[in-house]
Amino acid sequence: MYRIGIDLGGTKIALVAMDASGTEVFRKQTPTPFTYGETLAIIVELVNETEAFLGQQASVGIGIPGILSPITQRVKNANATWLNGHPMDSDLAKLLQRPVRIANDANCFAVSEAVDGAGAGKHLVFGVILGTGCGAGVAIAQQVHQGGNGIGGEWGHNPLPWMRADEFNTTDCFCGNRDCIETFVSGTGFLRDYHQAGGDAASVPELMQLMSEGDPFATAAFARFIDRLARALAHVINTLDPDVLVLGGGLSNIDTIYQRLPLLLPQYVLGRECATPVVKNRHGAASGMRGAAWLWGPDGLY
Ligand SMILES: [Zn+2]
Repeated sequence: MYRIGIDLGGTKIALVAMDASGTEVFRKQTPTPFTYGETLAIIVELVNETEAFLGQQASVGIGIPGILSPITQRVKNANATWLNGHPMDSDLAKLLQRPVRIANDANCFAVSEAVDGAGAGKHLVFGVILGTGCGAGVAIAQQVHQGGNGIGGEWGHNPLPWMRADEFNTTDCFCGNRDCIETFVSGTGFLRDYHQAGGDAASVPELMQLMSEGDPFATAAFARFIDRLARALAHVINTLDPDVLVLGGGLSNIDTIYQRLPLLLPQYVLGRECATPVVKNRHGAASGMRGAAWLWGPDGLY
Protein backbone atom coordinates (compact mmCIF):
# COMPACT_ATOMS: atom_id res chain seq x y z
CA MET A 1 0.00 0.00 0.00
CA TYR A 2 1.19 3.50 -0.81
CA ARG A 3 1.22 6.40 1.66
CA ILE A 4 0.80 10.01 0.65
CA GLY A 5 2.39 12.58 2.95
CA ILE A 6 1.71 16.30 2.61
CA ASP A 7 3.71 19.04 4.28
CA LEU A 8 1.39 22.04 4.33
CA GLY A 9 3.52 25.11 4.96
CA GLY A 10 2.82 28.82 4.96
CA THR A 11 4.32 29.28 1.50
CA LYS A 12 4.33 25.85 -0.16
CA ILE A 13 2.59 22.51 -0.14
CA ALA A 14 4.96 19.56 -0.65
CA LEU A 15 3.69 16.05 -1.34
CA VAL A 16 5.42 12.70 -1.39
CA ALA A 17 4.09 9.23 -2.15
CA MET A 18 6.05 6.34 -0.66
CA ASP A 19 5.80 2.59 -0.83
CA ALA A 20 5.74 0.42 2.29
CA SER A 21 9.54 0.49 2.52
CA GLY A 22 9.68 4.29 2.54
CA THR A 23 10.97 4.55 -1.02
CA GLU A 24 9.67 7.73 -2.64
CA VAL A 25 7.81 7.10 -5.89
CA PHE A 26 6.24 10.52 -6.52
CA ARG A 27 6.85 14.11 -5.46
CA LYS A 28 5.07 17.36 -6.19
CA GLN A 29 5.24 20.89 -4.84
CA THR A 30 2.97 23.87 -5.28
CA PRO A 31 2.52 27.33 -3.68
CA THR A 32 0.10 27.50 -0.74
CA PRO A 33 -3.02 29.53 -1.51
CA PHE A 34 -4.25 31.96 1.11
CA THR A 35 -7.78 30.78 1.72
CA TYR A 36 -9.01 27.68 3.46
CA GLY A 37 -11.28 26.59 0.60
CA GLU A 38 -8.53 26.88 -2.00
CA THR A 39 -6.10 25.01 0.26
CA LEU A 40 -8.53 22.08 0.54
CA ALA A 41 -9.16 22.15 -3.22
CA ILE A 42 -5.44 22.02 -4.01
CA ILE A 43 -4.88 19.14 -1.60
CA VAL A 44 -7.70 17.16 -3.25
CA GLU A 45 -6.27 17.94 -6.68
CA LEU A 46 -2.77 16.83 -5.61
CA VAL A 47 -4.06 13.58 -4.11
CA ASN A 48 -6.09 12.83 -7.26
CA GLU A 49 -3.09 13.49 -9.49
CA THR A 50 -0.85 11.30 -7.31
CA GLU A 51 -3.33 8.42 -7.26
CA ALA A 52 -3.74 8.64 -11.05
CA PHE A 53 0.04 8.15 -11.22
CA LEU A 54 0.00 5.31 -8.66
CA GLY A 55 -3.00 3.59 -10.23
CA GLN A 56 -4.51 3.00 -6.80
CA GLN A 57 -5.80 4.71 -3.67
CA ALA A 58 -3.33 5.62 -0.92
CA SER A 59 -3.51 6.69 2.70
CA VAL A 60 -3.23 10.44 3.33
CA GLY A 61 -1.41 12.16 6.18
CA ILE A 62 -0.86 15.89 6.49
CA GLY A 63 1.57 17.93 8.56
CA ILE A 64 0.38 21.45 9.38
CA PRO A 65 2.10 24.46 10.96
CA GLY A 66 -0.30 24.34 13.92
CA ILE A 67 -2.34 21.69 15.70
CA LEU A 68 -5.70 20.04 15.40
CA SER A 69 -7.16 20.67 18.86
CA PRO A 70 -8.32 17.43 20.50
CA ILE A 71 -10.75 19.63 22.45
CA THR A 72 -12.53 21.40 19.57
CA GLN A 73 -11.39 19.19 16.65
CA ARG A 74 -10.42 22.40 14.86
CA VAL A 75 -7.07 23.79 13.75
CA LYS A 76 -5.40 26.28 16.07
CA ASN A 77 -2.03 28.00 16.50
CA ALA A 78 -1.31 27.78 12.75
CA ASN A 79 0.89 30.53 11.35
CA ALA A 80 -0.95 29.81 8.09
CA THR A 81 -3.78 31.63 9.86
CA TRP A 82 -6.48 30.86 7.29
CA LEU A 83 -6.48 27.26 8.53
CA ASN A 84 -7.38 28.25 12.09
CA GLY A 85 -10.84 27.41 13.35
CA HIS A 86 -11.58 24.81 10.69
CA PRO A 87 -12.24 21.08 11.23
CA MET A 88 -9.68 20.25 8.58
CA ASP A 89 -9.48 16.50 9.03
CA SER A 90 -13.22 15.92 8.79
CA ASP A 91 -13.55 18.39 5.87
CA LEU A 92 -10.82 16.57 3.96
CA ALA A 93 -12.19 13.16 4.93
CA LYS A 94 -15.48 14.12 3.26
CA LEU A 95 -13.79 15.44 0.15
CA LEU A 96 -11.38 12.49 -0.20
CA GLN A 97 -13.87 9.90 1.06
CA ARG A 98 -11.48 8.30 3.53
CA PRO A 99 -10.07 9.11 6.97
CA VAL A 100 -7.20 11.63 6.90
CA ARG A 101 -4.62 11.99 9.64
CA ILE A 102 -3.31 15.45 10.54
CA ALA A 103 -0.48 16.34 12.92
CA ASN A 104 1.76 19.25 13.77
CA ASP A 105 4.71 19.54 11.37
CA ALA A 106 7.32 19.24 14.15
CA ASN A 107 5.63 16.04 15.30
CA CYS A 108 5.81 14.78 11.71
CA PHE A 109 9.54 15.55 11.76
CA ALA A 110 9.94 13.43 14.91
CA VAL A 111 7.96 10.55 13.39
CA SER A 112 9.94 10.65 10.15
CA GLU A 113 13.25 10.49 11.97
CA ALA A 114 11.91 7.79 14.33
CA VAL A 115 10.70 5.49 11.55
CA ASP A 116 13.66 5.49 9.19
CA GLY A 117 15.79 8.47 10.02
CA ALA A 118 18.41 9.43 12.57
CA GLY A 119 16.25 8.09 15.42
CA ALA A 120 15.45 4.73 13.81
CA GLY A 121 15.28 1.94 16.36
CA LYS A 122 14.81 4.33 19.29
CA HIS A 123 11.65 4.13 21.38
CA LEU A 124 11.21 7.79 22.36
CA VAL A 125 12.48 10.32 19.85
CA PHE A 126 12.47 14.03 20.71
CA GLY A 127 12.81 16.03 17.51
CA VAL A 128 13.90 19.65 17.76
CA ILE A 129 13.62 22.08 14.86
CA LEU A 130 15.92 25.06 15.22
CA GLY A 131 15.07 27.37 12.35
CA THR A 132 13.67 30.88 12.11
CA GLY A 133 11.53 29.80 15.05
CA CYS A 134 11.86 26.74 17.20
CA GLY A 135 9.62 23.70 17.35
CA ALA A 136 9.72 20.20 18.72
CA GLY A 137 7.87 16.95 18.45
CA VAL A 138 7.66 13.68 20.29
CA ALA A 139 7.45 10.24 18.69
CA ILE A 140 6.87 7.22 20.89
CA ALA A 141 7.20 3.81 19.22
CA GLN A 142 7.19 5.64 15.86
CA GLN A 143 3.85 7.33 16.55
CA VAL A 144 3.05 10.97 17.30
CA HIS A 145 2.58 11.80 20.94
CA GLN A 146 0.08 14.62 20.59
CA GLY A 147 -1.23 14.83 24.15
CA GLY A 148 -4.63 15.69 25.56
CA ASN A 149 -4.26 19.37 24.68
CA GLY A 150 -2.54 18.73 21.37
CA ILE A 151 0.60 20.52 22.49
CA GLY A 152 3.01 17.64 23.10
CA GLY A 153 6.47 18.90 22.20
CA GLU A 154 5.76 22.63 22.58
CA TRP A 155 8.84 22.91 24.73
CA GLY A 156 9.94 26.12 23.01
CA HIS A 157 7.28 28.07 24.89
CA ASN A 158 8.54 27.22 28.33
CA PRO A 159 10.80 29.87 29.84
CA LEU A 160 14.53 29.45 29.44
CA PRO A 161 15.68 27.30 32.37
CA TRP A 162 18.09 28.56 35.03
CA MET A 163 17.99 32.09 33.67
CA ARG A 164 20.89 34.37 34.52
CA ALA A 165 20.13 37.86 35.82
CA ASP A 166 20.78 39.45 32.42
CA GLU A 167 18.41 37.02 30.67
CA PHE A 168 15.25 38.02 32.55
CA ASN A 169 12.73 40.13 30.66
CA THR A 170 14.77 40.00 27.49
CA THR A 171 12.22 39.39 24.75
CA ASP A 172 8.49 39.14 24.20
CA CYS A 173 7.42 35.96 22.44
CA PHE A 174 4.60 35.83 19.89
CA CYS A 175 2.80 33.37 22.19
CA GLY A 176 2.12 36.12 24.72
CA ASN A 177 4.78 35.21 27.28
CA ARG A 178 8.32 36.49 27.78
CA ASP A 179 11.72 34.83 27.68
CA CYS A 180 10.47 31.64 26.03
CA ILE A 181 13.15 29.14 24.99
CA GLU A 182 12.27 29.96 21.37
CA THR A 183 13.34 33.59 21.84
CA PHE A 184 16.86 32.41 22.74
CA VAL A 185 17.65 29.26 20.74
CA SER A 186 15.89 29.90 17.41
CA GLY A 187 18.00 31.32 14.58
CA THR A 188 16.20 34.63 15.13
CA GLY A 189 16.96 34.59 18.87
CA PHE A 190 20.59 33.61 18.33
CA LEU A 191 21.12 36.54 15.92
CA ARG A 192 19.22 39.01 18.14
CA ASP A 193 21.42 38.17 21.11
CA TYR A 194 24.56 38.52 18.98
CA HIS A 195 23.45 41.90 17.58
CA GLN A 196 22.57 43.19 21.04
CA ALA A 197 26.11 42.35 22.14
CA GLY A 198 27.53 44.40 19.28
CA GLY A 199 27.99 41.88 16.44
CA ASP A 200 27.07 42.86 12.90
CA ALA A 201 26.90 39.66 10.82
CA ALA A 202 23.65 39.55 8.85
CA SER A 203 22.93 35.81 9.12
CA VAL A 204 23.74 32.76 11.22
CA PRO A 205 26.03 31.23 8.53
CA GLU A 206 27.95 34.54 8.39
CA LEU A 207 28.19 34.57 12.19
CA MET A 208 29.54 31.01 12.19
CA GLN A 209 32.08 31.94 9.51
CA LEU A 210 33.28 34.82 11.70
CA MET A 211 33.53 32.46 14.65
CA SER A 212 35.73 30.09 12.63
CA GLU A 213 38.02 33.10 12.00
CA GLY A 214 38.27 33.81 15.72
CA ASP A 215 35.88 36.78 15.91
CA PRO A 216 35.26 37.46 19.64
CA PHE A 217 31.63 38.65 19.28
CA ALA A 218 30.65 35.57 17.28
CA THR A 219 32.56 33.25 19.60
CA ALA A 220 30.90 34.71 22.70
CA ALA A 221 27.43 34.66 21.10
CA PHE A 222 27.79 31.00 20.16
CA ALA A 223 28.97 30.17 23.69
CA ARG A 224 25.80 31.79 25.10
CA PHE A 225 23.63 30.06 22.49
CA ILE A 226 25.00 26.56 23.09
CA ASP A 227 24.78 26.98 26.88
CA ARG A 228 21.14 28.06 26.59
CA LEU A 229 20.38 25.15 24.28
CA ALA A 230 22.00 22.78 26.80
CA ARG A 231 19.87 24.20 29.63
CA ALA A 232 16.71 23.96 27.53
CA LEU A 233 17.39 20.37 26.45
CA ALA A 234 18.39 19.33 29.98
CA HIS A 235 14.79 20.15 30.95
CA VAL A 236 13.56 17.79 28.25
CA ILE A 237 15.92 15.07 29.45
CA ASN A 238 14.88 15.58 33.07
CA THR A 239 11.21 15.36 32.04
CA LEU A 240 11.06 12.71 29.32
CA ASP A 241 14.55 11.20 29.20
CA PRO A 242 14.25 10.54 25.45
CA ASP A 243 16.34 7.83 23.81
CA VAL A 244 17.67 10.33 21.29
CA LEU A 245 17.49 14.04 20.49
CA VAL A 246 17.31 14.65 16.73
CA LEU A 247 18.00 18.18 15.54
CA GLY A 248 16.48 19.71 12.41
CA GLY A 249 16.10 23.15 10.85
CA GLY A 250 18.81 25.46 9.56
CA LEU A 251 20.83 25.55 12.80
CA SER A 252 21.11 21.74 12.82
CA ASN A 253 23.75 22.17 10.09
CA ILE A 254 26.17 23.74 12.61
CA ASP A 255 28.44 20.75 13.15
CA THR A 256 30.09 22.08 16.28
CA ILE A 257 26.73 21.77 18.12
CA TYR A 258 27.19 18.00 18.16
CA GLN A 259 30.61 18.30 19.78
CA ARG A 260 29.82 20.99 22.36
CA LEU A 261 26.31 20.05 23.51
CA PRO A 262 27.25 16.62 24.92
CA LEU A 263 29.98 18.32 26.97
CA LEU A 264 27.53 20.83 28.45
CA LEU A 265 24.45 18.67 29.06
CA PRO A 266 25.86 16.85 32.13
CA GLN A 267 26.26 20.22 33.89
CA TYR A 268 22.48 20.61 33.88
CA VAL A 269 20.94 17.12 33.79
CA LEU A 270 19.99 15.72 37.19
CA GLY A 271 22.72 13.47 38.52
CA ARG A 272 25.36 15.29 36.46
CA GLU A 273 25.72 12.60 33.84
CA CYS A 274 24.05 12.32 30.44
CA ALA A 275 24.28 9.59 27.82
CA THR A 276 21.52 10.92 25.54
CA PRO A 277 22.72 10.99 21.92
CA VAL A 278 22.25 14.32 20.10
CA VAL A 279 22.22 13.71 16.35
CA LYS A 280 21.54 15.52 13.11
CA ASN A 281 18.42 14.59 11.14
CA ARG A 282 18.66 12.27 8.15
CA HIS A 283 15.82 13.44 5.95
CA GLY A 284 16.22 17.22 6.18
CA ALA A 285 13.42 19.25 4.64
CA ALA A 286 11.72 16.05 3.41
CA SER A 287 11.06 14.95 6.99
CA GLY A 288 7.82 16.94 7.23
CA MET A 289 6.11 15.17 4.33
CA ARG A 290 7.71 11.78 5.05
CA GLY A 291 6.52 11.96 8.66
CA ALA A 292 3.03 12.94 7.48
CA ALA A 293 2.99 9.82 5.28
CA TRP A 294 4.14 7.70 8.23
CA LEU A 295 1.21 8.94 10.34
CA TRP A 296 -0.45 5.85 8.92
CA GLY A 297 2.23 3.64 10.42
CA PRO A 298 5.27 1.95 8.98
CA ASP A 299 3.71 -1.49 9.03
CA GLY A 300 0.08 -0.72 8.27
CA LEU A 301 -0.97 -1.81 11.74
CA TYR A 302 -2.29 1.53 12.94
ZN1 LIG B 1 6.50 31.67 23.59
